[in-house]
Amino acid sequence: MYTDIKTILDDANQNHYAVLAASAFNLELARGAIAAADEMQAPIIILMGQMQITRHARPELMVPMIRTLAQETKVPVALLLDHGRDWKKITWAYRQGFSSIMIDASTYEINENIKRTRKIVELCHPQGLAVEGELGHVGLAASLDGCDQSLYTKPEEAIRFVKETQVDSLAIACGTAHGNYPRGFIPTINFEVIRRVKAAVNIPLALHGGSGSGDENIKQAVAAGINKVNIATEIFNQCRDYLKKQLSDTPDLDYLTSMIQVEQVCKKAVKHFIQLTGSPGAAANFVHKSVFFYPAEGTDSEIGE
Ligand SMILES: [Zn+2]
Repeated sequence: MYTDIKTILDDANQNHYAVLAASAFNLELARGAIAAADEMQAPIIILMGQMQITRHARPELMVPMIRTLAQETKVPVALLLDHGRDWKKITWAYRQGFSSIMIDASTYEINENIKRTRKIVELCHPQGLAVEGELGHVGLAASLDGCDQSLYTKPEEAIRFVKETQVDSLAIACGTAHGNYPRGFIPTINFEVIRRVKAAVNIPLALHGGSGSGDENIKQAVAAGINKVNIATEIFNQCRDYLKKQLSDTPDLDYLTSMIQVEQVCKKAVKHFIQLTGSPGAAANFVHKSVFFYPAEGTDSEIGE
């Protein structure tokens, strides 16, 4: 079933588990991730980033495919624009049928972040789309931004941010970062930040930069109050490494066969992360809920510039 992140994450928050948010910018990744969720009877969130939809995964092509896959399974599937920063990109995703939008204004100071985030909430909520905001800043793993405690989310600021923006979920900074960490580096997550922010706002919290954080860190982050775990890099790396090996072993490997195999590699990786989030079987929680999604009907003129 196709739904939004609020429907999925409110249940996760109430029942103290997390949902995997897997990045998928093509058919193989989307099918692999949704098949994994279906097999494990777990809700799932499909992520597509602003850069991905611009460079490759046009919403006009991707959204109908993901909605079709979502309608073919009984598990709840949400489609979220990840790190939306530009109004034009956000409204593009909105018009094409994404069920959920993340607005990332976390590089701005808090007043500007609130202003920009609230504007997207006011656009999305009347049409039934859910919104994630970010407070504190989740930076880049390669430059070890996760170690910079000045970027971590502050509970008292989170209270104000949630109250004034009305976001449905909140991405927090607590020690992880995006992309590949330097080889051998495992981040230290400040679980106390997660616990304190959750106690302060009690809305679904998202952990970005889950890749490379280590299985135990992810489990403990969920136990501390995380309800959404974003994974992109680690799934991509496993698919790439598999292809590298296959092509090295069998240089003439048929292209169709290789793509089918990549989908299976993605599915296996996603199943591993679903297991860590504690969401297997949680799709049963939605059976008696009326989960449905109204497509956005905004037009260019209504949305404006
Ligand atoms: Zn992120």
